[in-house]
Amino acid sequence: MSTYKNQLSFAQEKDQNDPLRKYREEFYFPTFHEKEVVYFTGNSLGLQPKRTQSYIQKELDDWAKWGVEGHFHANNPWFSYHELLTSKAAKVVGALDKEVVITHSLTTNLHLLMVSFYRPTKKRYKILCEAKAFPSDQYALESQVKFHGYEPDDAIIEIAPRAGEHLIRLEDILTTIERNKDEISLIMIGGMNYYTGQLFDMKTITEAGHKIGAIVGFDLAHAAGNVELNLHDWGVDFAAWCTYKYMNSSPGGVSGMFVHERHANDASLPRFAGWWGHNKDVRFKMEKGFVPMEGAEGWQLSNAPILGMAAHLASLDIFDEVGMKAISKKRNDLTAYLEFIIEEVSKASSKAEFEIITPSNPDERGAQLSILAHGQGKALFDIMSELGVVADWREPNVIRIAPAPLYNSYEDVWRFGQILAEAIQ
Ligand SMILES: *Cc1c(COP(=O)(O)O)cnc(C)c1O
Repeated sequence: MSTYKNQLSFAQEKDQNDPLRKYREEFYFPTFHEKEVVYFTGNSLGLQPKRTQSYIQKELDDWAKWGVEGHFHANNPWFSYHELLTSKAAKVVGALDKEVVITHSLTTNLHLLMVSFYRPTKKRYKILCEAKAFPSDQYALESQVKFHGYEPDDAIIEIAPRAGEHLIRLEDILTTIERNKDEISLIMIGGMNYYTGQLFDMKTITEAGHKIGAIVGFDLAHAAGNVELNLHDWGVDFAAWCTYKYMNSSPGGVSGMFVHERHANDASLPRFAGWWGHNKDVRFKMEKGFVPMEGAEGWQLSNAPILGMAAHLASLDIFDEVGMKAISKKRNDLTAYLEFIIEEVSKASSKAEFEIITPSNPDERGAQLSILAHGQGKALFDIMSELGVVADWREPNVIRIAPAPLYNSYEDVWRFGQILAEAIQ
C-alpha cells in the first residue's frame, strides 16, 4: 500500500532526502505573478540550465576571436564539434558511439532515416504505426508513402486502442504484425506516445518486426532523457529524437539519430547525402563521389549549428553527471507521488470528473501523466494556469503534466495537488 502522504511536510522531507535535490538550482524557473510556477511541461520544452549561457558564450567568444579559423582553432574546434556530444548522447539512449550522431532536427532526421530504411517492394510496402501519432510523424509517414507512389490509406496501418480503451495493447501490436507479415516493410512507432504517455515495449516490438522481415524504427521524442533505453541491445534498426523536451537543450534544438551497428558500413543503403556525411579525411578535397562515414555520422548533411550544439552539450554534461539510472529512479517515485496526489484530490471532491489515462504500471510510462478531463476540462485547465501551474492542454480534453526529475521537486507535486483541489472548487 502507498506510504505517500498529501502533506507539505511529507513532500519537503522527500526533497531533503532526494539525491538529485541540488540540480533544481541548476535551472531557471519562470515566474507568474512574481511566484515560481509549478513547471510540469518539461515534456514539451525543458527549462534552461543556468550553465547553458556559458557554453554558448564560449563559442560566441571564439567566433569573435577567430572568425572562420574557429573551425580548427576554437577551443572546441567546430569542424569536429559534434564529436564532443556523441558518447554522452549514446549513453542516454543505450547505444554504441558509432551508432549515434547529433545533427539536424527531428522531423528532418526521420525523413533522412526513412529514405534509407523504408524501401518498399511491390509486395512488402506497408508502414505500421500507432494511431494518433504526433502530427509531424503522421505527415512524414504520409509523404514518404506518397513519394514511393502509394496511397496512405492503403499503405499505412494504424494500431488503435480497442473501443472504450485509451491505451494500445502490446498483444494487438503483435497480432497486427503477424496478420500483415508479408506486407509490412517498416514499423515506425513513437516509443512513448506523446498524448497518453504510454511507453511501448520496444524490445518485443523490434523482435516481432524482425521475425517477419521488417525494419523497425522509433521516434523517441518523449522517451530520450526520460526513460532508460537500450537501443543497441534491443536491436532497433534506427531512431531519432529531439533534445528540447526532457533534454533541456533549447527551443527547436538539435536532434539525435541512431543507426544500429549492423547498418554501419552498408554502402548499398540509399541515402540523401551531404558533405558532412562524407569521409572526413578527404572532405575538404571537395571531390566528386560520395563516400559515407562509418555509422550514424554518415547521415549528416551539413556542418553543425554550433550555438544549438553548445546548448545541447551543456545539457548532456548534466545528464552525464547524473546518469539515466538515477534520473529514472527519481522519475518513478516522483510520478507515482503525483499519481497518488491526483487520486487523493479526486477522492476528496464529488466535483472531480477526471481520470488518469497513462498506464499505472511504472514500466509502461515515464514522467508524464495524462489526465482525461470529462466535462469542464478546459475551464479547469485555465483556472490552474491562473493559479501558477504550467501544464499542457491537448484537444479535445486531455491535460498533460510531466514532473521532470532533474528539476521538479516533491513540493511541486504537493503544490500542484493544492491548486488542482482549489480549481475544482
Ligand atoms: C515533439 C515531437 C516532434 C517535433 O518534431 P520537430 O521536428 O522537432 O519539430 C515530432 N514527433 C514527436 C513524436 C514529438 O513528440
